[in-house]
Amino acid sequence: MITKTFKGGCLCGALRWEADRAPDYMGVCCCVDCRKASGSGFIPFMGFPAAALTITGPTRQYRSPALRGGEATRNACPTCDGLVFGGELGLDDSHTVYAGSLDDPALFKPTMLLFERDRPDWVIPPEGLERFKTMPD
Ligand SMILES: [Zn+2]
Ligand SMILES: [Zn+2]
Repeated sequence: MITKTFKGGCLCGALRWEADRAPDYMGVCCCVDCRKASGSGFIPFMGFPAAALTITGPTRQYRSPALRGGEATRNACPTCDGLVFGGELGLDDSHTVYAGSLDDPALFKPTMLLFERDRPDWVIPPEGLERFKTMPD
């Protein structure tokens, strides 16, 4: 059982989140969009139901075409540009929260890797992840 609280925020602290439970899933995504959005090799993410999350502070949103149609929304802090979570607040029933924003990064225990097909050779994933060519069905 996880007794520590999942909470975190952006670099400057203006955009914060806290969850009242552990995430439903944790993984890393190596898709091109995550790479470009983060300026890194992948984005580590955690999935929470919207009802479990309290998000406070200003957000700036960026929308891009999603793989399965529609748009994918990423929310960053307008002051420091820290990328914090995905999805439309108040509309989506679940959100991905980017694990780099965790106050205690040791809470992140990924089990899956998405978009193996886009993973650069220099991204060496942790052992034991279930790898998906793109997304799970
Ligand atoms: Zn900030
Ligand atoms: Zn991605």
